[in-house]
Amino acid sequence: MNIIIKSAVFLIASGLLATFSAQTFADEVNVYSARKEALIKPLLKDFTKQTGIEVNLVTGKADALLKRLETEGVNTPADLLITTDAGRLYRAQTAGVLQPVKSASLTEVIPETYREPEGYWYGLSLRARPIFYVKGKIKPEQLSDYEALTNPMFKNKICIRSSNNIYNQSLVASMIEVNGIDATEKWAKGLVANLARSPKGGDRDQIRAAAAGQCDIAIANTYYFAAMLSGKKQADRDAANKLGIFWPNQASRGTHVNISGAAVTKYAKNKANAIKLIEFMASKKAQAWYANANHEYPVRSDVEVSDVLKSWGEFKADTVNLSILGLNNPKAVRLMDRAGWK
Ligand code: FE
Repeated sequence: MNIIIKSAVFLIASGLLATFSAQTFADEVNVYSARKEALIKPLLKDFTKQTGIEVNLVTGKADALLKRLETEGVNTPADLLITTDAGRLYRAQTAGVLQPVKSASLTEVIPETYREPEGYWYGLSLRARPIFYVKGKIKPEQLSDYEALTNPMFKNKICIRSSNNIYNQSLVASMIEVNGIDATEKWAKGLVANLARSPKGGDRDQIRAAAAGQCDIAIANTYYFAAMLSGKKQADRDAANKLGIFWPNQASRGTHVNISGAAVTKYAKNKANAIKLIEFMASKKAQAWYANANHEYPVRSDVEVSDVLKSWGEFKADTVNLSILGLNNPKAVRLMDRAGWK
């Protein structure tokens, strides 16, 4: 701050005031982030170092941050919202707390699928939600599509978390888009009929349950599996090593993916800086760090993935525009409820 004031005084003194743009004064950007501090802070520090723009970070649960944005309205200090799934970005968009922004560089480097068509939000990292199977109990040849998980041969063999979780809601939302409501409801009923236990715990707990013999198949996001494989806990490493990864729907639409992403708030006071920060996070160097920090895939195809992810091989990802996941979310929630998915 001191430096900025000094240079302003200097500019006035030297008669260069006319060239002093308002932007030079805007030396900060305020971020509400649902992504944990450790997974974002080093990158924000880099941004400050490179641009001189101070970043003020508030982290919290996505729903709480969204509520806060709504309550604060025009008085919100937040310029940028970061969440870890497209569903919540869409919720923020429909709640009217975001504004669309255009950026030539973002349009160029972020694939169309991973950004909102009007610019309401931009994907920054990518995670898939594939099928995990216990090696020795399930052969990969027995697996194919999400749709086939209703096969009676998987009775009492599947572990998946509860339907109130946004990751499952987004998966179902993607299925509604291709298969329609009726077929997807039938599928959800079939899946529930094949569950080994009533849904409980998070994604990691499904992997742990499968490794412990409670089920043979688990559905989870890739970064949880990678974190367990390369984590500090021996028990988690052992559990994850018992499981193989299977990319479903490779002959059709591709494996379901979701994003972490960022959006400029409707009442951003530092809009230009907020856009600059998204552009920075989408830059090649930042992408590698941001994706790796949470064992994710970069949204850019010209950035290398981590060794663990590389070892799983390449896969075809569903190309449905992720804004569809938000659009179909209410239908997905009602459908899962009707299907008895706890
Ligand atoms: Fe997660």
